[in-house]
Amino acid sequence: MKQPKLHRLMQAIAQLSWRQRRVLQAQLAALQAREASIEAIESQAPGRCPHCSGTHFVKNGFARGLQRFLCRGCTRTFNALTGTPLSKLHLRSKWLAYARALDQGLSIPQVARLLDVAWSTAFRWRHRFLQLPSRRQACALHGIAEVDESYFLESCKGQRALLRQARRRGGKASKRGVSKEQVPVLMARDRAGATANIIVARTSAAELSAALAPLLPKDTVLCTDSSPSLAAAAQLLGVQHHSINVSAGIRVDGPWHVQNVNAYVSRLRGWMRRLRGWMRRFKGVATKYLASYLGWFRMLDCAPGSAPQPASVLALAIHG
Ligand SMILES: [Zn+2]
Repeated sequence: MKQPKLHRLMQAIAQLSWRQRRVLQAQLAALQAREASIEAIESQAPGRCPHCSGTHFVKNGFARGLQRFLCRGCTRTFNALTGTPLSKLHLRSKWLAYARALDQGLSIPQVARLLDVAWSTAFRWRHRFLQLPSRRQACALHGIAEVDESYFLESCKGQRALLRQARRRGGKASKRGVSKEQVPVLMARDRAGATANIIVARTSAAELSAALAPLLPKDTVLCTDSSPSLAAAAQLLGVQHHSINVSAGIRVDGPWHVQNVNAYVSRLRGWMRRLRGWMRRFKGVATKYLASYLGWFRMLDCAPGSAPQPASVLALAIHG
């Protein structure tokens, strides 16, 4: 905008009523938020065409505020969001604020209120934003690795599991102990804080050892509680193993204990309880979303000050 035109605009602003200024302020804030979101979305230039993986492409104007590219190989166009979990989502001006809400671990109603979006939008965005981050976890543990089997109550399996009442009996498994309603997850953590969570179908020694094999190099020392399946899995894996009989009141045996992984699981369960406190009847997790929640908590549970900033959370949601 040329200087004289800007000057006239400033004069016009001075004549606005209080209410009109509020409207203008909201409009400016939305524009800024949209630009900040677009900057975060385009922070990484695409390396390949998402349609044909070709690397020969050129800039080709803009579409809906985003740089468009034209692939010389397949002649199709794309932008930074094409082929990513966020590709078809609207309201980009709210994405950074949404990433901040994820970073704060807010519940669906809190996010919906904060961003003035529908519950269904807040819910859909959550799992789209978490699709790639939930796959990020430690590929291998080093030194002493603590592993524990945890069980998560499974809720109804619908698409909108969180948005309807989960189960008549108010969130308690109707069968005692481990049942088909409980989803087993291996919680693995080394003393440096590297963490991996693996959802397993069964807790047989063969299944557990297959799940743990890529995580545990041969020189790892495995610490578990007195689980017979994990002891058998350790034998199959051929790693040094120390089992701590926690249920008999033994907590520490020199350097061998499972206190780090147990503390992690208890922080995770506390967070999940708080997250769902708003809907008392809902206590379970649809299995298809469990990986999202586990990944979300891995992202949240880092040292104070090292939590990712909203722009990096948004970049993670797009590029992984
Ligand atoms: Zn292409």
